[in-house]
Amino acid sequence: MEKVIIVGSGCAGLTAAIYAARAQLSPLVLEGSQPGGQLSTTTMVENFPGFPDGIDGPQLIMNMHAQAEKFGARFSYSEATGFEPLNSHIRLQIDDSEWLETESLIIASGASARYLGLENEEKLIGHGLTSCATCDGAFYRNVPVAVIGGGDSSAEEALFLTRFASKIYLIHRRDTLRASKIMAGRVLKHEKIEPIWNTIVVRYVPDENGEMSAIDLRNVITHKERRLPIACVFVAIGHDPNAKPYSGKLEMDKDGYLITKRLVESKHPGVFIAGDVADRVYKQAVTAAGAGCAAAIEVERYLSGLPLK
Ligand code: NAP
Repeated sequence: MEKVIIVGSGCAGLTAAIYAARAQLSPLVLEGSQPGGQLSTTTMVENFPGFPDGIDGPQLIMNMHAQAEKFGARFSYSEATGFEPLNSHIRLQIDDSEWLETESLIIASGASARYLGLENEEKLIGHGLTSCATCDGAFYRNVPVAVIGGGDSSAEEALFLTRFASKIYLIHRRDTLRASKIMAGRVLKHEKIEPIWNTIVVRYVPDENGEMSAIDLRNVITHKERRLPIACVFVAIGHDPNAKPYSGKLEMDKDGYLITKRLVESKHPGVFIAGDVADRVYKQAVTAAGAGCAAAIEVERYLSGLPLK
């Protein structure tokens, strides 16, 4: 029987692991389908306190991982696929096979990039369709690319791609960016980035080898359509929470975000929730880290039989 299992190895999961390990609970961290979470696919993080010159996202995650390991956290490259909350303890299935038993659980499984839901989407992922500029941007040197979205992620992706692509079309369904002022300002004054406002993608156009060659766009005001040749589409339209194993067993809102009481508590004793899997509002590295810390403190209290404050 484990004392505490932490599902997810992003900012929330790793912060929970640091705290739980320092409390000598020897947590087992399931790294999940995207080890390191969203920070592992980002570039410079400029708003994590303590790094006045910014810090590379993957580096920040590696530092947290090392810190958790140093205090005794254990890591497993596996994913939670089933969940059974019992009165005495919790059962958790990993990789659709083995079941683990644990006295407590921290769900910090984060969120995954959303795609547009257009025809051929699954076939094109990895063939000129992606949600990760830091992973795939360098493959598209001196060619035009498109970024879809108007939030901070799209701004970050577009700015990162200016290192490689000849031109970046930023395609947004409205005529104002949702991104923070500082990011929007950088995007709008960059000579390689051309915003295309009030526009949606209606079709991906693959070439005869199945590689992305163009997209069909529709202006949502004039309803006019046109074809835009590009070599790759970077989709940055937000994320969906990774909460499938808990469906029907823990409370969720209409979009599948887990619902917490008092920051990190679930309705089931011993099960705590932290980070983007429950956060539809802030979604910041530092808020995820804060929730991870709170979840580990609650686990410590729960395992000691102390009442919640
Ligand atoms: P977001 O803020 O939710 O923005 C998603 C964007 O995609 C919005 O502009 C939205 O349009 C558009 N969109 C959504 N669904 C769409 C669809 N089906 N078709 C076309 N466009 C669609 O998501 P995000 O940019 O991933 O950011 C999430 C959170 O992380 C935010 O709180 C953000 O501040 C934070 N973040 C921070 C940083 C940073 O500080 N460096 C970097 C990345 C993310 P509408 O505007 O019309 O809704």
